[in-house]
Amino acid sequence: MISDRLRNVLRSAQSVAAFTGAGISAESGVPTFRSKGGIWTKMKPEELASMDGFMKNPDLVWEWYAQRKRIMADVQPNPGHRALAQMERLFPRFAIITQNIDNLHQRAGNTVVHELHGNIERNYCMACGKRYTNEEVLASAGVPRCSACGGTIRPDVVWFGEMLPEDAWDASVRAAGSADLFLSIGTSTVVYPAASLPTIALDAGAMVVEINPETTPLTSRVDEFLQGPAGTVLPELYDAAAAARKEKA
Ligand SMILES: [Zn+2]
Repeated sequence: MISDRLRNVLRSAQSVAAFTGAGISAESGVPTFRSKGGIWTKMKPEELASMDGFMKNPDLVWEWYAQRKRIMADVQPNPGHRALAQMERLFPRFAIITQNIDNLHQRAGNTVVHELHGNIERNYCMACGKRYTNEEVLASAGVPRCSACGGTIRPDVVWFGEMLPEDAWDASVRAAGSADLFLSIGTSTVVYPAASLPTIALDAGAMVVEINPETTPLTSRVDEFLQGPAGTVLPELYDAAAAARKEKA
């Protein structure tokens, strides 16, 4: 399954970037908008995850986020997340670029994680910026208010119609542009601007490897396509990397 070419890149790579999407989270049981359940099935994602939706109905939106936060606190990193955390220790530079908000890469042990869509475990006051943990915001029913200024607290996630966080985006572009090996994992590669990251890596001369159960618009352009779930493919890739780095040492 691991080609000689990929083995050689695993042996020599100084910098690796792993770009992850909803697929790897789904393997841990993180619900998507499509699996909303109950009363949420009637809502459009834009009504729950946009500034307009929040302004119109903050109580409802907070009820939805409180439920999601509780569900996500119970899910666990899967073998794919754990393999990426182990891989971080094999290379001088290793960055995760993620479109997921579930914090599972950090919980698995990765220390360099560029979050393009925020993080469900964080919240902040819209008026003064004060930060709040989930524990703090879930303690009160209804819309949580800032203890410092009385402002409205919102989840620290990127909503429909909002810009990606500039720092995370700039760091992601740098990681993609300087990678020797770029892994595109469990992402449909259709949502821009994030979907341009594999192209940035290709243009900069990285070996680009896609890991996904199904083909995507990216598949025809990558150097290699490893078909399968992240939880199966990434542990194999880690084993190959560990063996290759040992040979080198
Ligand atoms: Zn405040």
